[in-house]
Amino acid sequence: MIHYKNYVKPKNLEEAFAMNAKKSAVIAGGFCFLRLQSRNIGTLLDLRDLLSDRIEETEEEFRIGAMVSLRQLELHKGLNDFMSGAAKDCVCHIVGTQFRNCATVGGSIFGRFGFSDILTCFLVMDSWVELYRGGRIPLSEFVAMKADGDIMTALVVKKTGRKAAYEMMRNEAVDFPVLSVAVSEDDNGMTRLAVGARPARASVIETEGLLSVLDGEKRRAEAEKLAARFTYGTNMRGSAEYRKYLAGVLIGRAAGRIGALREGQEGRRDESDMQD
Ligand SMILES: Cc1cc2nc3c(=O)[nH]c(=O)nc-3n(C[C@H](O)[C@H](O)[C@H](O)COP(=O)(O)OP(=O)(O)OC[C@H]3O[C@@H](n4cnc5c(N)ncnc54)[C@H](O)[C@@H]3O)c2cc1C
Repeated sequence: MIHYKNYVKPKNLEEAFAMNAKKSAVIAGGFCFLRLQSRNIGTLLDLRDLLSDRIEETEEEFRIGAMVSLRQLELHKGLNDFMSGAAKDCVCHIVGTQFRNCATVGGSIFGRFGFSDILTCFLVMDSWVELYRGGRIPLSEFVAMKADGDIMTALVVKKTGRKAAYEMMRNEAVDFPVLSVAVSEDDNGMTRLAVGARPARASVIETEGLLSVLDGEKRRAEAEKLAARFTYGTNMRGSAEYRKYLAGVLIGRAAGRIGALREGQEGRRDESDMQD
């Protein structure tokens, strides 16, 4: 069970940052993951009134406020149109609707969880983490950094015209993923791949050439080669060997969906419940 002595709503981010400098202070996002821990917290910082819970779209980017819920990611039509439905695909299997209404983008990205579907997916986009003190940092750099007491204010996705697809394997519908994979391709012939739940934290690589334009056997063989560039581990959900095999299959499948999008076919999943 989690215990906290003080519950504080700081007046502004400057005050929140100063308070968070104390080791005994903890920022609450949706509090969904934190509350399951067994831990004594000195001061729990509630930043709900200071951090945005909106997805703002401009010509250049989407700015996803740290307090945006996973359910908002799932339902946002503009973001999902831009990401070929990958934003929805990466969150829709997480626990249940009520849970996704509560868990936040800030907590999911800042937590840098090894099992994170969200981290895997956004690593293949041109994503930046916006921090109160640290400014904007590419997500690919942020994942490798240690938590440093900063406050995440937003996740930014630049509109650089990538086509993306997300795939994962779960033993059960709402369990943690055994493996997660995201693939994106730009207009200059570069493919980006992220593999997460290896069971280590997601990592990303870039390679020249488009996987989606290859067909059948060639795509499968290339996907297997790319899967071998990541390292895998064993835990109760699967062995390293199984994960490596899965990665090849899921990379090939994601690339196939991007190929379908290129040909104007249905490369994304159902979008009937999307909102503007
Ligand atoms: C039972 C369960 C099953 C789950 N299954 C999955 C799954 O299958 N796939 C998946 O991807 N995820 C899964 N998750 C994780 C979930 O999706 C969220 O990522 C997680 O709950 C964290 O989000 P939160 O808003 O609850 O953050 P919190 O629990 O409130 O915070 C998490 C961490 O982030 C810090 N933090 C929060 N917001 C900020 C901020 N703005 N700035 C700085 N630090 C901040 C907190 O201090 C804390 O260390 C699961 C979680 C639970 C509890």
